[in-house]
Parts: sequence; structure tokens; C-alpha cells
Amino acid sequence: MLNNIGLIGLSTMGGNLSRNIANKGYKISVYNRTYKKTTDLLDISSKLDSAETRKNIIGYENLKDFVESLELPRKVILLVKSGDPVDEILVELKPLLSSLDIVIDAGNSNWQDTITREIILEDCIDFEDELNDDEEMVLDQKTIYFLGCGISGGAEGALNGPSIMLSGHKESCDAVMPILQAIAAKDFEGNPCVTNFGENPAGHFVKMVHNGIEYALMQGIAEVYTILKTTGLDLTSIKQVFEELNTGNNHSYLLDITTKILDTKDNLSSDFLINKIKQVSDSKGTGKWSVEAALELEVSVPNIFSALNARITSKDLNNFIVEKISADIAELDFEVAELNNLLQLIFLTSYIQGLELLLAAETNYGWGIKIEEVLRVWQGGCIIRSKWLEYLPKLLSDKLNYTSVLKELLASSLISQSKLLALNLPVIASSIGYLKDLLYNQTGQSLIQAQRDYFGQHGFERIDKEGSFSGGWNR
Ligand code: NDP
Repeated sequence: MLNNIGLIGLSTMGGNLSRNIANKGYKISVYNRTYKKTTDLLDISSKLDSAETRKNIIGYENLKDFVESLELPRKVILLVKSGDPVDEILVELKPLLSSLDIVIDAGNSNWQDTITREIILEDCIDFEDELNDDEEMVLDQKTIYFLGCGISGGAEGALNGPSIMLSGHKESCDAVMPILQAIAAKDFEGNPCVTNFGENPAGHFVKMVHNGIEYALMQGIAEVYTILKTTGLDLTSIKQVFEELNTGNNHSYLLDITTKILDTKDNLSSDFLINKIKQVSDSKGTGKWSVEAALELEVSVPNIFSALNARITSKDLNNFIVEKISADIAELDFEVAELNNLLQLIFLTSYIQGLELLLAAETNYGWGIKIEEVLRVWQGGCIIRSKWLEYLPKLLSDKLNYTSVLKELLASSLISQSKLLALNLPVIASSIGYLKDLLYNQTGQSLIQAQRDYFGQHGFERIDKEGSFSGGWNR
């Protein structure tokens, strides 16, 4: 009997997602370039899963055998490292597949690559010729449907229910949907956190923006942690403050894990593990791509940009300098309520920036992204899930009019601002700046237009008359 679905790439995500699929009663063929990972997965499943689940996972050492084990049309999920490895595996896989088979790229692929891969696979272009830029392209006779699919939730989400953002050929999406619905997390109403967002590359684009928001929220929370450190509190007390902050709209996965992280002791010393970690953070590309897409679409995403910058500059930071700055600041005093307002501001402005980016993409590219569906599939399983995702749809029904909420937040966060100036808190500064940009006219922009017109005769609009004007400057 042939198996229902196949999965290639058995690291953190692929291994856990395979067990999730098997646990829902589907027979899954698995393959990994290095066979040891396949046998490791089968061992882990024998130890941790039910006998039924373990029986549903069938490992293959050879890619051809893996492909031949699948029912038609074949459905193959890719969870390999993003970038070149996706093309490399597609080059190997394509000759083995039949027309109308479906490949689901569930990794964090760049959305522009997803457009290219779909064209190559669906329009029957020989993959190697396209990749080698060969002018004499050979058309083969196969149409392989290529679905772009963002998955969020890390190892735990992959195993117990991730948030899934799909796009591509409609009938192929429909064909894989029952399996994706079975393995997905549940939204606040109990529905599966999976949606077909329309044409490619919508799924990967939505996932990229999700990650951009994730960068901003993680940096924002890290800055609240920095504030608490400068107040002189010990880690146990800081953890307690974070528990208090993890309520109301701010109740979130990221604050949950923050409290757990702050509670974890190091195995190699008697200290807390967090105190042993270098002040250097890494990134894999999705934050940078979000900023690039925002620049292209002329959308303001200062929180995401600041968070990305903070990761980049952390590589140059000298711990001595960090400690010196902290020591120079007189012990600051912050009320939990002030920090709560600050966190609300970080969450809300980060979500808004991401949603504005998605709206601009939809307006420009028309893939079919529905914002209410974005907010729904992010309610469960994903890293940026929070109570805000229940509240934001209400704001959305008010035509994305966040103004009154933002005004309240600005008023309540004002108290903190003078104290905050003493610290280097890029995402908090960006949140406050963004809020003011949205709420107040920027009086300096008239001077910028005047300067542009003075030196370049670029023209300006007047507040009292229609049309474009130029000149009249006292030179
Ligand atoms: P990695 O991104 O670390 O990728 C490792 C996997 O890719 C291994 O199975 C590896 O095989 C395979 N691989 C690498 N190069 C090739 C190649 N040239 N040909 C074939 N296979 C190759 O694994 P993750 O599980 O962390 O992530 C998988 C995907 O999911 C990535 O796109 C990632 O960005 C995305 N993702 C990851 C999340 C996470 O929390 N880790 C969360 C959400 C998405 P081998 O064992 O032989 O080296």
C-alpha cells in the first residue's frame, strides 16, 4: 500500500512535523540527505510515540524509493535549510516525480525564490538549465505544482500543532488541506490555524512578515528586560515582574518562554543560564527580507528595522561597554504599570507595522491575502501568538483605525519617556517615534520640501491652494 504523504529534511522541524502527521493517522514516508537522521527519528518515535504513530513513519535511504512509496498525486513536504539546498533537492527530486505531483516548500524560503521555483516547476522548464542560466532551455513534459508554505511554532509547534500559511495552485492546496488541518494548532474558536492565502508567494510572504514582527517583539521584550536589569532587581524578581506583565492583551507565547528562560539554572555552574550567554544575537534572513520588502513598498517598519539593527550591532558590542553604560545609569525606578503600557505599545506598533506591510503587498501584488485570516492563523501555534490577536480584529473592523488606542497608550507611556532616554532601547524608541508619526503632523516636513525646492526645484504643495508650486526663495 502506498503512503499518504512524504517529507524531506528531518532536522528540528521536519522530524517533529513527521511525528505530528503520523500521529494524526497518515502514513508518511521520510527521507533525509544524511540517513543517520532518518534512523534517529525512527528511534525517537519508537521511544516517545504510540506504536500506531511509529508504524505510520516509514524511512527511506534512497530518494527514488521514497518517491515511489507515495500515492498519486504525490505530496512531498520540503523542510530543508532555506536557500540553495531547496534548489538542490528540487533538481534531484523533479526527474523522479510525475506530472501533477505536489511539492510543498514548508521552510523559511525567500518569497521571491518561491515565485521562480513555481514558474520553473509548473511551466515545465528544466530546472538545471534555468539555474545555470542556459539559453537553450529544454522544456520537459511535466507540471509539478509548487506550494509555498510558511510554518511557525518551532520544534514544539511542529510536533503539537503549528500555524500554517499556505499559497499556490488552488486544487493542489485543496488536496493537501485535510492533512494540514489535522496537524495545525487551533485558533481561539477551535478552528485549525491554516489558510490558503491565495497565489504564490503569499504564504512565504505572510510568514516572512510574521518573522519580522517576531524580531520586533523579541527585541522589545529584551529591552524591557534591560530596563529591569538597570533597576538593580535580581533575576528571580525580574521573572516575577515578567509574570505580572504576561497578562491582558500582552499575554503571549514570547512572555511565557521569557519567564521560563529566566528561571533556568546552568548545568555547568550554580548561576542562571541566561547570565552565561554572550550578548550576541543571530539572524537567518527573514528580518532583513521584511525590511527590504517594506522599503520596496514604502511602508514604515521602524520596530522591525531597529530590531534587525540591534542584532547586527550586537556582533560588534563589547561586553565591557554594556556593563559600563549600565553602571553609569543611576538606579532607575519603574512601576510595573508603566512597563505594562510600554509592552502594549511595543506589541501594538509591531503588529500594526507588519499588517501595514501585508496590506501594501496585497494592494501592489493582489495575491489574495486577507488580513482577518492572517490574524486568525497567528492565534495558535506560532511564536507571535498573543491576546492581541483577539483584540486586533475588533480594531480591524474599525478600518484599521488604531488612533484612539494609540492615543491612550501614548498618554500612559509618557511618564516613562524621560527615564527611557537614559538607556539604549532601539525598539522602544522606534515604537514611541512611530506612534507620534501616526498621531501628529510632522512639522519639519515642510522645511524638507522647502530645502528640496530651494536646491533642486522639486516643487511643493501649499496648504491653502491646489497645485504644485516652486520658487520664491530669498536667495
Ligand atoms: P535546518 O534549517 O537546520 O536545515 C537542516 C536540514 O536541511 C537537514 O535535514 C539537512 O540535511 C537539510 N539539508 C541541508 N542542505 C541540504 C541539501 N543541499 N540537500 C538536501 N538536504 C539538505 O533545519 P530546521 O529543521 O531548523 O528548519 C527547516 C526549515 O524550516 C528551514 O527553512 C527553516 O528556516 C524553517 N523553520 C525553522 C524553524 C525552527 O525553529 N528551527 C521554525 C520555522 C521554520 P542533512 O541532515 O543531510 O544535513
